[in-house]
Amino acid sequence: MPNAKLTDSQRNSNLCTHTGATKEVSYGEHVCPECVAQGDTWVSLRICMTCGHVGCCDSSKNRHARAHYESTHHPIIKTIEPGPDWAWCYPDDTYLK
Ligand SMILES: [Zn+2]
Ligand SMILES: [Zn+2]
Ligand SMILES: [Zn+2]
Repeated sequence: MPNAKLTDSQRNSNLCTHTGATKEVSYGEHVCPECVAQGDTWVSLRICMTCGHVGCCDSSKNRHARAHYESTHHPIIKTIEPGPDWAWCYPDDTYLK
């Protein structure tokens, strides 16, 4: 299964105090399971760096990644799309690069 983990610079970012709540996580299919269950589509996928939950981004109709944060308070997500490797901290409202 693919893995996701914060880079050293993300983990050591002085913009965020939540990286201790993260670990290396893995995921199965490259889909938003909640959108699949509803028969909906999404734009981009994000992964929760605390538990490995995969959800869709804020540009998607259902915003399942944000909904996961709001229900669990797991603080940090990462993109699992091709391209730039960034993370986002919800409580700090900042990118970790
Ligand atoms: Zn933070
Ligand atoms: Zn979704
Ligand atoms: Zn989570």
